[in-house]
Amino acid sequence: MHEKISIYGVGYNNVTLEEAAEFCEELLCEEKNHMVVTPNAEIGYMASKDEELKEILNSAELVVADGVGVVYASKIYRTPVKAKVPGVELGIRVLENAAKSGRGVFFLGAKPGVADLAAAKVSEKIEGINFVGIRDGYFKSDEDVIAEINASGADILFVCLGAPKQEKWMAENRDRIKVRLMLGLGGSLDSYAGTVKRAPKIFIKLGLEWFYRLLKEPKRIGRMMALPKYMFAVIFDSFRKKDR
Ligand code: UDP
Repeated sequence: MHEKISIYGVGYNNVTLEEAAEFCEELLCEEKNHMVVTPNAEIGYMASKDEELKEILNSAELVVADGVGVVYASKIYRTPVKAKVPGVELGIRVLENAAKSGRGVFFLGAKPGVADLAAAKVSEKIEGINFVGIRDGYFKSDEDVIAEINASGADILFVCLGAPKQEKWMAENRDRIKVRLMLGLGGSLDSYAGTVKRAPKIFIKLGLEWFYRLLKEPKRIGRMMALPKYMFAVIFDSFRKKDR
């Protein structure tokens, strides 16, 4: 379908937000379970050190460039992706389309109470949305959760357990989960619930959403060091490839 562009070992679909949402609609028409992942620079860097994660990302039907780090990296390789596609925004488009088509949605992830709040807030904004199941992300038994998802009759499953847990969980259980589309969307439920606010528009526009997040949650500094590490690794890798 959409051409994939390889950025530091991970193949990304070269799509805009609209195209990504449309592609999700196409995937929903096929009677099998499809996987959507939204790797940012941090996850891209993780994947370079974790072969299993890299393979999982590359096995997903839709892989979008979530974040400016990946977009810059694609430019450094001189194979730019069309756009940044934040997972949190793709999730909203998928929900809007689900409301139109009447497809059932299951929210899985985040701390107890957060997914319920997220579903309540989404229901206020998106008329006609049909939530068929909600479950927090701190469960002990995969079997129970999968049985609950399958019994719900959901078509769409949001898996928000943080990376790389959500990607590994989706890949491990893909064959047993009877939905048509599952999306690994990190902290999106926190964002929909309003427990974690997104950056003001100006930060997003300037590509400084990561900086806003750092100001709000300084303890993320360790994790965020993955961004400069990823950028250096990409620059080095692109020079190495040019020399060949
Ligand atoms: N989380 C979860 N189960 C776990 C670990 C994490 O549901 O075992 C949730 C956590 O509560 C948060 C999300 O996963 O809602 C991860 O958020 P984070 O901001 O770390 O995600 P990112 O988008 O940065 O990957």
